[in-house]
Amino acid sequence: MTVESDGAGGGDVRVYAIRFAHREASVRGEHFYGHDPCSESPFPIDYYVWLVVSGDRTVLVDAGFTAETARARGERHYLRSPMETIAALGSDADRVSHVVLSHLHYDHVGHVADFPAASVVLQEAELAFWTSRHAGRGEHARLADPAAIASLVRENFTGRVRLVNGDHEVVPGVTVHRVGGHTPGLQVTRVETAQGVVVLAADGTHFFENIEQDRPYGVVNHLPSMYEAFDTIRSLAGPDGVVVPGHDPRVRERFPAVPGLAGLAVRIA
Ligand SMILES: [Zn+2]
Repeated sequence: MTVESDGAGGGDVRVYAIRFAHREASVRGEHFYGHDPCSESPFPIDYYVWLVVSGDRTVLVDAGFTAETARARGERHYLRSPMETIAALGSDADRVSHVVLSHLHYDHVGHVADFPAASVVLQEAELAFWTSRHAGRGEHARLADPAAIASLVRENFTGRVRLVNGDHEVVPGVTVHRVGGHTPGLQVTRVETAQGVVVLAADGTHFFENIEQDRPYGVVNHLPSMYEAFDTIRSLAGPDGVVVPGHDPRVRERFPAVPGLAGLAVRIA
């Protein structure tokens, strides 16, 4: 087991990207809006959740999917549950205080029940869409996990779900911001650390290429909002901040692996 030190002093915040699955049988054409001249080129994708440890608060951004979901959907290679990697990082799933859900696609909601003490923070507009008359239609429906959505609706009656609108402070130094674009209520998470600002963009930019080359992702709810999301993410990060995309294997090149957890966790800050 690897346990990273808490460091010293107030303002010590640690941020990790935890890779729990990947899919190699994936091509560029799936991932970029409009025609791509290299649409058949291989373009593997990673699946992550993100852990923010701030003093005695532990915030998880997104809840991944389960090994059963990986088997049912095929092609996805499941590495290790996020809870196991969280334990290896010296935290405990039972003590995670908040789970922020960037949006309600299946690859971001699967393990909510495995964080029993956590409040769940999501945008009201996101849950509204997935309980609307359009939820079951077309491409969007293929990306849904109806059981997870039903469970969030139920948990909204227990007080565990915190539905927010727009900007919201989760814990001091950790805020969420609705951007939309990919889904109606997609939100990104901004974290202040001693090294500077980190924006956990999730599917606000799936890959570095989306935001760095202003190239929208292939699954679009509203194109102007997706461009606006890029602008909002840039301005939340500021000139010196770091933007962490939701599905990019290059995250493992741009940030250092946690010792003992190569391929499973990188340290962002
Ligand atoms: Zn995703």
